[in-house]
Amino acid sequence: MVGLILTVETLAVAVAAVSVTAVPVARDHWLWCGLLLLGSAVHLEAVRGIDRIRDVGEGSVNLLSVWLFAGVLLLPPPLLCGSIVLGYLHSLARVYRFRVLVHRKLYSLATLVLGALAAYWVLHAVEPATEPFATTLDGPAGLLALAGAGLAYWLINYGLVVTAIVLTNPDRPLRSSLGPATDQLMLAGAVGMGAGLAVVMITRPWWTPLLTVTVLALHTGLLMPQFRAASRNDAKTGLFDAVFWAKLVSDELDRARRTDGTLGVLLLDLDHFKRVNDAHGHLAGDMVLRGVADAIRRTVRGRDRVGRYGGEEFAIVLPGVGADDVRATAERVRAAVAATAVTVVDFDGEEKVVTGLTASVGAAVYPAHGGDRTALLLAADAALYVAKTAGRDCTRVAGFPTARGPLRFAGHHPDQVP
Ligand code: GH3
Ligand code: MG
Ligand code: MG
Repeated sequence: MVGLILTVETLAVAVAAVSVTAVPVARDHWLWCGLLLLGSAVHLEAVRGIDRIRDVGEGSVNLLSVWLFAGVLLLPPPLLCGSIVLGYLHSLARVYRFRVLVHRKLYSLATLVLGALAAYWVLHAVEPATEPFATTLDGPAGLLALAGAGLAYWLINYGLVVTAIVLTNPDRPLRSSLGPATDQLMLAGAVGMGAGLAVVMITRPWWTPLLTVTVLALHTGLLMPQFRAASRNDAKTGLFDAVFWAKLVSDELDRARRTDGTLGVLLLDLDHFKRVNDAHGHLAGDMVLRGVADAIRRTVRGRDRVGRYGGEEFAIVLPGVGADDVRATAERVRAAVAATAVTVVDFDGEEKVVTGLTASVGAAVYPAHGGDRTALLLAADAALYVAKTAGRDCTRVAGFPTARGPLRFAGHHPDQVP
């Protein structure tokens, strides 16, 4: 990892040093450089609130690349490098307030400089004129060159960041290190917008504010899916949070009512989970919760919705499942939990495998055990309580229809299924 960081940073400085003398800087270049810096500064100020909230991960891209790529098409290397460094310092100051791991940010900056210079040299190889590429590149060859430059920028920037993430988190599945596919689309869009912006700035400089607003609007719009996910999902397990899960239950109940269907609900509480924390630490406990969440999600059908109900409590809504098969589903989920093995990092930094987890499950079914959401959840909760008092590591199905109100002692009812 240290080797990679030092190599990339040295390479960035070396390539920048070689490139700096390659092309002379003209007066117009300074003007464009100023305009680009102004545009990216306005952009950053407008979205920095958003970027801080979503806590941009190391690998995530954002539309600020628009300005960088426009710079590739407009500026000679010295100004290109200078504007990248300035823009980056601005974002460090305003988005992160300099509370960052300096070595990581230096690495990211190096990948940006390398990527931009690679794109520059791809274009330069096709069109070695001193005029900015935005005026000289044209025709099918120009399109190919632009695509090649975008690809070079993407490969270097994204490739190096993903390599660093994979090296520092060997346990993490590659899929999650690669980041969401929409990020790649966003980067491709940024390259395209940057190219358009560069042409507009040369031929119609007064249109630049118009495009700045466009970029801002796109930036906000593209982040909507991330906001939605963040507002619905529990950060620790990735499952739906309790509030959103409850809303899903209401929706599914409405559907079941309309179609005269059934609906199963499971509440699952891990047994003696405090012991896992006591034995391995709270952080390890969190990893186990994540592992259990993944196991449950893999076990149920696609249309079943899994939520995190409380600390180590999970809730599952099962559309179409009736009184006959709710127990079988609950037992399948319990078996999946029992089979879960999670590699955790212990108190003292050692790796341990946590196994032998058990869970108690309470199950209830619409309409047999409750006619609305509250009644249904209370019935499942009461059944869970029965499972706990029966010695844990088992499933109990609610015994009889409940009215509103706590029914903690459902187990005493003669209809209670043992
Ligand atoms: P049982 O349910 O079998 O009665 O025993 P339990 O030890 O699981 O007890 P209970 O459900 O009452 O308490 C939940 C414990 O789970 C308390 C806390 O130590 C742990 N816990 C709750 N939320 C989290 C969390 O987010 N992370 C971690 N690591 N532990 C949690
Ligand atoms: Mg609990
Ligand atoms: Mg528990």
